[in-house]
Amino acid sequence: MDYFDPHIHMVSRTTDDYETLARMGCVGVSEPAFWAGFDRGSVESFRDYFRQLTDFEAKRAAQFGIQHYTWLCINAKEAENVELSREVIAMIPEFLDCPGVLGIGEIGLNKNTKNEATIFVEHLELAVKYDQQILIHTPHLADKYQGTRMILDMLCDDSRLDHSRVLVDHVEEHTVRHVLEEGFWAGMTLYPVTKCTPARAVDIIEMYGPERLMANSAGDWGPSKPTAVPDLIVEMRRRGHPESLIRKVVYENPLEFFRQSQGFQFTPRDAEQTRV
Ligand SMILES: [Zn+2]
Repeated sequence: MDYFDPHIHMVSRTTDDYETLARMGCVGVSEPAFWAGFDRGSVESFRDYFRQLTDFEAKRAAQFGIQHYTWLCINAKEAENVELSREVIAMIPEFLDCPGVLGIGEIGLNKNTKNEATIFVEHLELAVKYDQQILIHTPHLADKYQGTRMILDMLCDDSRLDHSRVLVDHVEEHTVRHVLEEGFWAGMTLYPVTKCTPARAVDIIEMYGPERLMANSAGDWGPSKPTAVPDLIVEMRRRGHPESLIRKVVYENPLEFFRQSQGFQFTPRDAEQTRV
């Protein structure tokens, strides 16, 4: 089945991973800007990273027939450095018109601090000013519930935001309802053992239905599995869910959400075949 991974950090992955994803049916990926595992020292580091995301990574993906899209920001972990964060936010518009840029992300909170909240709101300002979609990181584990509430409050406080153009990722059983009820899209980030597993994600789909819900692998430099979305497909089939429902979650929903962005010029595989 063709599928789309809406949140995967391919700069951390090998070319073999691209080949495996293509074999599994992956036709597109969207890669939010992320923490590198260490705090970057200057705005120039981010400029280089954004060049990698908007240029080189798209070419690497294209070799395997995978269309690559990206989101730009300074992540919550580095937001503690408010001065650097503001320099990065001021530089981001240089890249917003690059092909494949979908918006601002993954912004959010990590430890739910004041500085993180300040920089989160300044990213929202940027998104509104440039009419960009937003992709949001919610904290993991103990900080998740409170952090998600703080994020939803900040989003709902800004009446200029169109909730249908905001994707809130890393939702779990105790946060997904709040996200969906406010009219946002929700993404379940799948991990092999810890956090949200494919089985728990299928539970969530069964509880809340497939509307505005999608699944991703994170696929970063930490413990994560880039083929987690195919694992979800297998688990849904094992439980007897129809192909149409699976396709909605792993393919049609990401496309419907991303199509709201001008940078999303996706060509479905069957359209390519028709043209040939
Ligand atoms: Zn991420």
